Amino acid sequence: MPTARLDYVKSKIRDVPDFPTPGIMFKDITPMLADPRAFHIALDSLAERLIGEHVDAVVGIEARGFIFGGALAARLNASFVPARKPGKLPWKADRVAYATEYSKAELEMHVDSLRKGAAVAIVDDVLATGGTAKAAAELVMKQGGHVTAFAFVIELGFLGGRKLLEPARVESVLAY
Ligand code: AMP
Repeated sequence: MPTARLDYVKSKIRDVPDFPTPGIMFKDITPMLADPRAFHIALDSLAERLIGEHVDAVVGIEARGFIFGGALAARLNASFVPARKPGKLPWKADRVAYATEYSKAELEMHVDSLRKGAAVAIVDDVLATGGTAKAAAELVMKQGGHVTAFAFVIELGFLGGRKLLEPARVESVLAY
């Protein structure tokens, strides 16, 4: 992917200091979503890394992971599976607890989301400390799936999330 195209996407990410708590520089993707060209390039960049590989399901993490995960699943001809915050899913769900850059949280996934041996790509907008993505991976493993890749639009390299997820494959469109 040419640097100029990725720079264009980067130019549509808005930095919001001290949100949601003091000291956090929030990466606001809404200007990118509002710009069809930037959204298209970001999706292309994610899809190019996985297209042609065996991916049975894309797990998207609530909420912003749904935006990219759903679109990516459609491009890869894969299922889309939502990993949601507690109490949102209507059916029986597996649950894991984890810590994020600025909070403690839990994630749930319907118990019948994946078949045993399913190849799964886990997608979210931002990789920060990696706790959220790792929790999603635990849900995948609980159901006998395996994570072929983690894919993010934005990686906050200075928070070391990649180290938490490796040796699994970690792909990110924009690194900070
Ligand atoms: P973590 O578990 O620390 O990797 O945090 C990742 C999750 O929190 C993702 O779902 C992100 O959407 C959100 N997140 C964490 N830090 C930021 C940030 N600086 N800007 C935007 N979203 C963030």
